[in-house]
Amino acid sequence: MTGRKPAIYLDYNATAPLRPEALAAVNAALAAPHNASSVHSYGRAAHKMIEDARQQVAALVNCPPAQVIFNSGATEGNNTVLKYFAKERILVSAIEHPSVLEAAPASEKIPVDKHGIVDLDALETLLKKNKTALVSVMMVNNETGVIQPVDKISALAKKHGALFHCDAVQAAGKISIDMSPGHIDFLTLSAHKIGGPQGAGALCLGICGITPTLLDGGGQEKKARPGTQNTAAIAGFGAAAATATRDLPPTATHTTKLRDRLENTLCKINKSIVIHSKKAARVPNTTLFSLPGASSETLLMAFDLEGLCLSNGSACASGSVKPSHVLKAMNAESAGTIRVSTGWASTENDIDQFLAAFEKIAARMNRKTVNA
Ligand code: PMP
Repeated sequence: MTGRKPAIYLDYNATAPLRPEALAAVNAALAAPHNASSVHSYGRAAHKMIEDARQQVAALVNCPPAQVIFNSGATEGNNTVLKYFAKERILVSAIEHPSVLEAAPASEKIPVDKHGIVDLDALETLLKKNKTALVSVMMVNNETGVIQPVDKISALAKKHGALFHCDAVQAAGKISIDMSPGHIDFLTLSAHKIGGPQGAGALCLGICGITPTLLDGGGQEKKARPGTQNTAAIAGFGAAAATATRDLPPTATHTTKLRDRLENTLCKINKSIVIHSKKAARVPNTTLFSLPGASSETLLMAFDLEGLCLSNGSACASGSVKPSHVLKAMNAESAGTIRVSTGWASTENDIDQFLAAFEKIAARMNRKTVNA
């Protein structure tokens, strides 16, 4: 970025900037040889950092700390659960993250409606058809921000004898999560989506008494996740979780204000804009919109030149811009799609800059269409 003004970051759903509290915890942990399995003083200090983080992460989702298993992130957490049930019947929503969909290639898909909400009648029909071991539905979709009715989904799963897994990566820090009613058997979290470091996550266990595992070879995390713990990343995760828990209500109000202004102004600048899932319950930080007739790649590059970091919503891993399976499942327009996602450090000015850039880009595109 030398010689250019700092980029405006509006891609929190891909990864959030590290919170200062998390950075401090990471630095403190990296300052010494902190292997939590060692019995010496550094080992004991590392153990304490991890146990403190366990309490902080447990508080974020209201579950007992002993039910939190640290791992490398949500891709691992989702794989751990889905692969554990690989030989049994699994139902997953059509809009899950690839770390669920590809970890359970034989799973049957639960459709969603045009707003991107899981179809409860279709779920019940599927559950009635055959015995199901596991239902997996995310709490919040990473592309649209739609909040799924997980209480109802879990109740249906339980009624038909299935366990319930919930990928809560995009819900954490945005809405409150409460595992205490016992409706969620397995819940996955990722540190870097809440302002913690990349490379740490957690699988939180409910009351079913099953501990799915993926790896063999060590006693860490009570044998549920062997391998030397990533003390620094886990400590940073804990600090981020504590801050996210503390700041949840003011952040939600602030991001809702930013989102409403963003969406209202967007629709005024260009009347043909489609804001996806506008009528559904959504987390306040996410806006997914399509500009019919435009291409996502061109828009993303144009925004990048204006110094704005955005996403098309579905390019999580490869950097490629491929059509969204989420919008496809919703039967929605997917050309010219852009996702704006804000978070703990987002400001009014970020939104102003985005809107100014959009106005400029939209006017340029308009001129090109008129002159074509
Ligand atoms: N689930 C969802 C809903 C996500 O958005 C992501 C991150 N793109 C993941 C899982 C994977 O998380 P991680 O980066 O920690 O592997």
